[in-house]
Amino acid sequence: MARRLLGRLAYGSRYDRVPWGQRVYVRPGERLMREAQWRYLISRAPVLPLAAYQQARPLGEIEEFLSCMMCGESRQQPLYEPTGGNGWRYHVVRCPSCGFLYRNPNVRPERLGDLYSTGYSNFLTGKYAANRQRRYDLTMRAFSPVFDEGKERRLLDFGSGVGLFLELAEQRGFDAYGVDLSPESVEQANERLSRARTYFGAPQDVPEIAAGGFDVITLWSVLAHLPRPLEDFERFRGLLAPGGVLLILTVNARSLLLKAYGAGWSGFTKNHLMFYSSRTVRTLLARTGFAGVAFAPHYGDTIEAGTTNLPAGLAARLRRNVDRSDGGNMMRVLAFADEEAIGRYGGGPLRVHRLRA
Ligand SMILES: [Zn+2]
Repeated sequence: MARRLLGRLAYGSRYDRVPWGQRVYVRPGERLMREAQWRYLISRAPVLPLAAYQQARPLGEIEEFLSCMMCGESRQQPLYEPTGGNGWRYHVVRCPSCGFLYRNPNVRPERLGDLYSTGYSNFLTGKYAANRQRRYDLTMRAFSPVFDEGKERRLLDFGSGVGLFLELAEQRGFDAYGVDLSPESVEQANERLSRARTYFGAPQDVPEIAAGGFDVITLWSVLAHLPRPLEDFERFRGLLAPGGVLLILTVNARSLLLKAYGAGWSGFTKNHLMFYSSRTVRTLLARTGFAGVAFAPHYGDTIEAGTTNLPAGLAARLRRNVDRSDGGNMMRVLAFADEEAIGRYGGGPLRVHRLRA
């Protein structure tokens, strides 16, 4: 309420018709103000030894305390306490060494299934499905030419859900496979798909997938759900063929929207465990044997699809502010397995950053 009032005082009603997710990127001066607000928060929030932090927090039955998985730092900087429907609530800390944001206490990997009760796949239909597929298309376009032509290249969609992406992949000619931890979703996906196939379980449990040799692996809104990201990424690296690439779409922990809305940020959803930025995702990739990475800024699906109601001047300002700040509210990442992959795709518009372990 106070935020709305401040906005009204500063900007009047001029931006009332701009959706919330776009407003912070188009109001003049707001980017600099939010970034200053963030720096102030970081400078003020206490930094606690893990033992002291643990004493101050209750530990749920399915939970465990963590140190930073990206750099090993054990000290904790408590930042946010997101809450939501049905009474879920958790604590988000920042690593004072590398800036990684994660839920602490976190969920024990063997109890992850408790987060995904049955019925999880039911909402993935209708308009939601159409919007998702548009998002996949826009992201593939942003990384053109990597996804332009499947040509029977081997593709693995990790966390394939009801098969919405695999459907697009098989249309483009990929030899496509999926894995998912929801048996209902796997069943629905296999009904939807004609050539592509999805399997229940982890990649190492499915012989067709454990064989590896993938040219492309995709993680659509999956990264933030992984409780042991380093182990998973070592496995992904091993499943990639020479010249292979891995695509990630995930919420961006350096989003201007997070800086503006704090605990109310859309990326703090019930089942998200860890929150990556361009910096911390580089650490993850470097530590698990990837050779390079490229980022595609996310201006929002309606802007990129050309269906936005924003006047052209404001849309241009939004793009400028996304470029100057954080790359947008979603982070789109293409990781290159080796020099061969960089050589194959890195010459065009994609700017590749080389990684060192
Ligand atoms: Zn760290």
